[in-house]
Amino acid sequence: MNQLTRRKFLQHSSRLAGGAYPAMMALGLLKDAPAHAFELTGDAPKGEHIIILGAGLAGLTAAYELQKLGYRCTILEARNRAGGRCWSVRKGSVQQETGNSDQQAQFDEGLYFNAGPSRIPHHHQISLHYCKELNVPLQVYNNVNESAYYFSEGKGPLSNKKVRVREVHNDVRGYLSELLAKAVDSQQVDAALTKEDAQKVVEYLRAEGGLDIDKLYKASARRGYIEAPGAGEKAGRIGEPHTLANIVRSGLLDPDFYNVAEYTYELQMTMFQAVGGMDKIAQAFEKKLTTPIRYQAEVTAIRNTENGVQVNYTTAAGKQSIQGDYCICTIPLPVLSNIEHNFSSGVSRAIDYANYIKTGKIGLQFKRRFWEEDEHIFGGITHTNNELTQLFYPSNDYLGKKGILIGYYNFNEKARQVGDLAPAQRLQLALQKGKLIHPQYDNEFENALSVSWHKTRYNMGGWAVYSSEERQTNYKALLVPDKRTYFAGEHTTYLNSWMAGAFESARVATTAIHGRITDQRLTYPKQH
Ligand SMILES: Cc1cc2nc3c(=O)[nH]c(=O)nc-3n(C[C@H](O)[C@H](O)[C@H](O)COP(=O)(O)OP(=O)(O)OC[C@H]3O[C@@H](n4cnc5c(N)ncnc54)[C@H](O)[C@@H]3O)c2cc1C
Repeated sequence: MNQLTRRKFLQHSSRLAGGAYPAMMALGLLKDAPAHAFELTGDAPKGEHIIILGAGLAGLTAAYELQKLGYRCTILEARNRAGGRCWSVRKGSVQQETGNSDQQAQFDEGLYFNAGPSRIPHHHQISLHYCKELNVPLQVYNNVNESAYYFSEGKGPLSNKKVRVREVHNDVRGYLSELLAKAVDSQQVDAALTKEDAQKVVEYLRAEGGLDIDKLYKASARRGYIEAPGAGEKAGRIGEPHTLANIVRSGLLDPDFYNVAEYTYELQMTMFQAVGGMDKIAQAFEKKLTTPIRYQAEVTAIRNTENGVQVNYTTAAGKQSIQGDYCICTIPLPVLSNIEHNFSSGVSRAIDYANYIKTGKIGLQFKRRFWEEDEHIFGGITHTNNELTQLFYPSNDYLGKKGILIGYYNFNEKARQVGDLAPAQRLQLALQKGKLIHPQYDNEFENALSVSWHKTRYNMGGWAVYSSEERQTNYKALLVPDKRTYFAGEHTTYLNSWMAGAFESARVATTAIHGRITDQRLTYPKQH
């Protein structure tokens, strides 16, 4: 029998659907993406009781893993639902913000938008792992779409009109490649290249920028057609490229339009989302838990005592108190800062000086998916330099009847300005600015709900942001237990703004508590 060499095997299999990756796995060249199962050993001693504060993903994961080991846990959750920031807004969902009256979503049955997490990077194996373990189906989230728009408010020739992302991308790539090719060709760039190498670089730039034989950028089909090709004599018509000067003068090379979505590690495709809403992940944990979750139980005080932890909380029935041997606190720091405690001064400082990002989203329900029907946009993001910052198109239910667009997703100062508005004014702004891009808003809009995370009760911020200095001081104070209280949540990780942070932090806390109780030297992640 002919021996199939590794190389031949790979070449052959890369021609088959699925490419070389599965084949490389079969040959053991790549490590199987670890299922990332959590393997703690040693049963929980009888009677130990662990109180978990918060039923966000960190609290739910801690309870789930501790439950597997046989611990008795109680979760206290201030809201009437699990998931915390992992929240999909549906018909009847209520948003509570300080200084604003409650909003209740009027969306049609079956429609939703993810007010918090909306995308899972393909390398966040722990997030994928829990989806797999809990049977939460995933679908591809389309984060990058050349068909979406750039919309720059300003005075430039391309300002105040929508320009397809592909036009700007390909024009800019073309011009910059042309400039560089000329420079390399005429040896104006000291790139320490031999003549042959320089030739290869120029050839690469020709391909990269779509340059012609003379190394000049001329428009090609890459930037789209103004008349699509078709049958018979219909060859299609390509538009004139925008000039580089017009692109620059219109602000389309400003930071608002940098290619963050394509280059950032966490935002590189492939990305995923939970089918039917990201909150399906929280709901799946909830279903698996035998651990009781006390909802609408707002923690008001946490005290380390000599042999355990005492937590005071309020419910509709009044003031309550509960004792535990240990506590895992996942309450976001801006909320925790207003809760009474007897933690050390270092921990106290870390809590009080925490910095969280201001961020907001609005979900807009439309009676027709005009962005798909009229403009061929299926998922992805339109970028603006105004308060909206970004418009997200849904990556689900393509070509359905109705749909919800995320009408803005903004941060920092823009999120502060918009968040300061009452919900009715936020909506007005979202519609007024949004219809500059999609005039269909006028006829198709139905209803909306906005979330300003830094004003949202029980969060008071999007996610923790640490400077390098704070990572060495305040942050570190939260990584060790304060007597019998352990801290978990995305704010105790380098995975801020990601669900993966919540999962990882829960495992760290679980490992530490289990190791302490069973007197084992345990580390997470395992050190090999
Ligand atoms: C706008 C936005 C976009 C995001 N996008 C993504 C994304 O695309 N992908 C991704 O992976 N991640 C994303 N994230 C991050 C992700 O949502 C979080 O990292 C994760 O959900 C945090 O989980 P947690 O358990 O640490 O905190 P939380 O979910 O905040 O849980 C804390 C819990 O504590 C409860 N609580 C608060 N105060 C009290 C009290 N006094 N008493 C009792 N309980 C209390 C809260 O109600 C909440 O349930 C996003 C977050 C936001 C805000």
